[in-house]
Amino acid sequence: MSTKVETFQFQAEARQVLDLMIHSLYTNKEIFLRELISNASDALDRLRFESLSKPDLIGADEKLEIRIASDTEARTLTVEDNGIGMSRDEVIANIGTIAKSGTRELIQTLKEKQSSDVLTSLIGQFGVGFYSAFMVADRVTLVTRRAGEETATQWESVGDGTFSIADAGKFTRGTSITVHLKKFEEGPDGDGVDDFTSQWVIEGIVKRYSDFVGYPVIFKDRQLNSMKPIWTRSRSEVSDDEYKEFYKHISHDWNEPMTTWSFRAEGRSEYQALLFVPSQAPFDLFYTTGKFGLHLYVRRVLIMEHCEELLPPYLRFMRGVVDSADLPLNVSRQRLQEDRHITQIRKWLTKKVLDSFEEMQKGEPEKYVEFWNQFGRVVKEGASFDFDNKDKLMGLYMFESSRDSGGLTTIRDYVARMKEGQSAIYYLTGPSRRAVENSPHLEAFKEKGYEVLYLVDPVDEILVQSLPEIDGKKLKSVGKGTADLGTEKDLKEKTGEFSALLEALQKRLEDRVKEVRLSSRLTASPACLVVSEEDVSPNLEKLLSQAKGEKTVQKRIMELNPDNEIVVRMRDRIQKDENDPLIDDFAQVLFGYAVLAEGSELQDPLRFNQALVRTLGRSV
Ligand code: ADP
Repeated sequence: MSTKVETFQFQAEARQVLDLMIHSLYTNKEIFLRELISNASDALDRLRFESLSKPDLIGADEKLEIRIASDTEARTLTVEDNGIGMSRDEVIANIGTIAKSGTRELIQTLKEKQSSDVLTSLIGQFGVGFYSAFMVADRVTLVTRRAGEETATQWESVGDGTFSIADAGKFTRGTSITVHLKKFEEGPDGDGVDDFTSQWVIEGIVKRYSDFVGYPVIFKDRQLNSMKPIWTRSRSEVSDDEYKEFYKHISHDWNEPMTTWSFRAEGRSEYQALLFVPSQAPFDLFYTTGKFGLHLYVRRVLIMEHCEELLPPYLRFMRGVVDSADLPLNVSRQRLQEDRHITQIRKWLTKKVLDSFEEMQKGEPEKYVEFWNQFGRVVKEGASFDFDNKDKLMGLYMFESSRDSGGLTTIRDYVARMKEGQSAIYYLTGPSRRAVENSPHLEAFKEKGYEVLYLVDPVDEILVQSLPEIDGKKLKSVGKGTADLGTEKDLKEKTGEFSALLEALQKRLEDRVKEVRLSSRLTASPACLVVSEEDVSPNLEKLLSQAKGEKTVQKRIMELNPDNEIVVRMRDRIQKDENDPLIDDFAQVLFGYAVLAEGSELQDPLRFNQALVRTLGRSV
């Protein structure tokens, strides 16, 4: 049937995935059939969707379905659908490349980690569906014709890094995939894999994994699946395994979901939702190319996959379906944004989801922490956008803190633990827990027994700006402004004694600090740098510099610890001799020390080093 045959190379990433598939010890090989049926069902969905605007694509009394055929002699299994099909270019683009950005990096990290389960985690993050056929096949042939086109294309590969493309002449609309199964060996010396041409094996797999698929799966003129939409059945009627398989079907995730929730709204409007929290964050969660959104059904008919309007972007990791009785069947993507039903569903669903997370946080705190570690970063985006749910979100946010027991805490729990006399909720931002927990800024707070939240996620910098007061308590950075620890009066009195030193330092560091003053936040260190209340934190300054590619450094305020021995001695020297030659080096070393303690880089390391060496020279 084919005329000219052309050979193509698999894209490097796709070849690696294929290699993994072919040599995989993944025992659950039967899922390849689930993947092919899932793809067929997606192709039928797409056809139905396109036919809304082009009704001619589907014949008048044509049935959309998935057909399976097997041949035990020839050792082949064929899965065929009369869905959207693919054009020649689409075949080359879709089968043979992996379109997701970041694939290469992902494969590399998985390989480096030498994870024994490279395949499972790769598949878990992608769903490399079609390629899974190569777990059981030594050759795969695909013939396809796109709806609305005249000619068909044949794709074939033995999984050796190349595939061939040929014209396939006449062929009905849709896609047919023939898996040429590897040799089957039964018995104790066999490979333990089922015979995928056998009727009962095929029936069993379809029942187990694809029962809810929305199109008939036909084998030997019999429909194998019940086609019952799983969300319309009552929870007690559906087994956990069925939910899990449904999740895998719609999410293309091979991992099990962390949790399943079903919601139903009755009354004036009627809608229901079956939602899943994945157990692992997809690695493209922060890529603009990532595909998110729930499946939208109108009275059991799929209207749209990846409908992003049903939940706010900060819940984009949620998977599942929403079925509404109120929407028109021909609702278009453009109109969705203004549709008041959609707005209503979104509001209702957001609240349901946040309530459910709240329940999880109370009832299953360990699970909640797991969830938080995977998705907390996204949920934090909500604080800047979802003002209606600000309070609820606030309760869901968790942070590290300086308290002894370690672990994450909510701000409310923090407030409940606050000491008498503590006037604010203290926090410090930084690049990591390690970087912030050794910061000199914490000294006096620790001594007073005041807990400090460690905000070590880049998004926290933006988050703190939108967090409200809690029980009348403001959030306050321990590295900004004055410390307000109740010792300000003493400081004022002391400032007179130190004025000569403060002035001398100010003069020498003029180009880098805007003020030198005494500190109430230090108990051990001689000095630290702080910024004004309205300035950005050093951590954010660094993040912004990285993003902009240019370095901007705001002038800091240098604070001295009046109880530190070095500072006291220097004060005495200056009082005796205003022009004490030591003061130049002292200023440089002290400033450099404070810059390093802040976790920043020295602007002029040479100047610091020379001053340090001269100082050491004098002291030995
Ligand atoms: P995924 O389904 O996760 O995108 P696959 O490797 O299973 O990944 O499939 C790659 C692409 O090939 C699909 O996104 C789809 O565009 C196309 N494809 C696969 N199977 C079919 C089919 N039966 N009909 C039409 N297109 C298909």
